[in-house]
Amino acid sequence: MHQNFVAGRWIGGTEAQDNVNPSNTGDIVGAYARASREDTLEAIAAARAAFPAWSRSGIQQRHDILLKVSAEILARKDELGRLLAREEGKTLPEAIGEVMRAGQIFDFFAGEVLRLSGDKLPSTRPGIEVEVTREPVGVVGIITPWNFPIAIPAWKIAPALAYGNCVVFKPADLVPGSAWALADIIVRAGVPDGVFNLVMGRGSVVGAAMLDDPRIDAITFTGSVGTGRKVAEASVGHLRKFQLEMGGKNPLVVLDDADLGVAVECAVNGAFFSTGQRCTASSRLVVTEGIHDRFVAALTERLKGLVVDDALKAGTHVGPVVDQSQLDQDLSYIDIGRKEGARLAWGGELLNRETPGFYLQPALFTETSAGMRINREEIFGPVASVMRVKDYEEALAAANDTPFGLSSGICTTSLKHASHFRRNSEAGMVMVNLPTAGVDYHVPFGGRKGSSYGPREQGRYAAEFYTTVKTAYTLP
Ligand code: NAD
Repeated sequence: MHQNFVAGRWIGGTEAQDNVNPSNTGDIVGAYARASREDTLEAIAAARAAFPAWSRSGIQQRHDILLKVSAEILARKDELGRLLAREEGKTLPEAIGEVMRAGQIFDFFAGEVLRLSGDKLPSTRPGIEVEVTREPVGVVGIITPWNFPIAIPAWKIAPALAYGNCVVFKPADLVPGSAWALADIIVRAGVPDGVFNLVMGRGSVVGAAMLDDPRIDAITFTGSVGTGRKVAEASVGHLRKFQLEMGGKNPLVVLDDADLGVAVECAVNGAFFSTGQRCTASSRLVVTEGIHDRFVAALTERLKGLVVDDALKAGTHVGPVVDQSQLDQDLSYIDIGRKEGARLAWGGELLNRETPGFYLQPALFTETSAGMRINREEIFGPVASVMRVKDYEEALAAANDTPFGLSSGICTTSLKHASHFRRNSEAGMVMVNLPTAGVDYHVPFGGRKGSSYGPREQGRYAAEFYTTVKTAYTLP
């Protein structure tokens, strides 16, 4: 059984969870220990105890550890990619890409350790010196979702350690394999005991214990809006710093003057790759009437050519849905869409493949309207809907008409409309002639409105969450 790592030791659990391959439910990836409430409290205590020394550790030590983690992840990208594809169901090339992303993130933050700096300023009072520096926050609780089993943990753990914090990491119950492999790499890279702790298990047990505990100074969370609210409520109660990355209902606007080929590729990639299970997925395709019919026809043709199959098979474009409950949610939204009067232009059928898995044909709805539930609620599967609009102004209004605000996109050859959209889209990330999903790792990531709360993640902006600012006045 794969164990949890608490206070510098691998520890067993009384309960284990089977990690099931969604491409082949007969294939068990492995057994993973579920941490108890007591294990979680021990991990928090260990992180607290390790914090004074780690927060004052030298930057060379932290740099070397992060670089070592990066090097091992990159060296093992094919093997770790296979593990990720097997447990989560994204295709092997997507999974290897995600593993490489994790390695690159550790490399980036290894560099950031050496670039830590502050400001020295003159005071408004003559003779006094002012110094502004960043210090670690303390013990950081990290809670992650199942859809990016290694990249999201990496983009939280790497900056947490880089800036001198101790970590209690709780991965998603559904995909502990990649998280465990990452933890094993971090442990062997030489983090001192207690600095990094892995507590796999249920949100209602491990996650809840973390939320309740005042010894956690900051919580970074990625997941659903419902759980995000619980993190927020508990954290406000403790006056603790928190950061939330949650759902999306991201629009891709296609204007009459768009390059049709570019628009179709953006839609296919953004809406259906990674089985549509991305917070940045383009679930709403907002299309002006002059190109609407050509766009729908070309997109439907393209969808007919997509191969939905085992994530590990060469040639698969779209892997399975992650599990039965997500599949049930996708199917229920397809049913809701039909009942709301949307036209199912393609897909939405369950598919049989060589092995038993959660295979769903990508579904495209047309003739949908803004008020429909399929256009307002996050489905989180390979389901997208086309909304027909009159012109750019109507498209922009429709794009912004959502409680979410993570990413948005526009396909157009008009500089005027592209520039106007960049400025007026109510999203944290805006793409022009690019899919709404797919981002760089050295620049900020995050959204607005109901999608995100708190400082941005990734790149140099990560320092905002993982450090606290100190202003010192000295009369020499
Ligand atoms: P989820 O909210 O069910 O779970 C996320 C994490 O929270 C898991 O580790 C889970 O075990 C834990 N958790 C559950 N209940 C808890 C509780 N009571 N207390 C503490 N922790 C608890 O989300 P999910 O289904 O794993 O992920 C899918 C969601 O994540 C989607 O809504 C998606 O949009 C979102 N997501 C957002 C981003 C982003 O950056 N905005 C990125 C990826 C995924």
